[in-house]
Amino acid sequence: MCIFCRIIEGSAPSHKVYEDEHTLAFLDIRPISDGHTLIVTKAHVDMLEDLDTIHSEALFRTLYRRLGPIQRAMDAPAASIGINNGREAGQLVPHIHIHVIPRATASKRVLSDAVSRIKPRGPEYFQDVAEMIRKEIKAR
Ligand code: AMP
Ligand code: ZN
Repeated sequence: MCIFCRIIEGSAPSHKVYEDEHTLAFLDIRPISDGHTLIVTKAHVDMLEDLDTIHSEALFRTLYRRLGPIQRAMDAPAASIGINNGREAGQLVPHIHIHVIPRATASKRVLSDAVSRIKPRGPEYFQDVAEMIRKEIKAR
């Protein structure tokens, strides 16, 4: 059983801040900032796209309802919010979770500066990439 499933069932310790039928929020054990919180679904699913509607809606409902209180508790006017969706994206725990990282002072942009950017590209590149994605969206 994965570590987050063990936290959900109560066999591993955590500092819970919120719980409802389908989701749980608890403090990240290695915080990037004060109040760094993880929001998980109670279903063990690795990747965001594999969540069912009930759990995906519940996950994002918990995010937007609890984001304000998490920020206010830390006196933080902002937050970086992120998902490492899959191993290649840096996902270490294979159980979908949203990172909420309160930001009290402007500092390194966690998501934007975390990886170095690929080299600057011209308009054709953007047209091609946008077309590849639009095609795949239509194909579903
Ligand atoms: P990710 O790279 O998105 O999979 O991040 C996993 C996060 O889970 C990391 O930020 C870890 O610090 C955090 N983490 C791992 N184990 C625990 C735990 N037992 N309790 C709380 N947070 C944890
Ligand atoms: Zn799990």
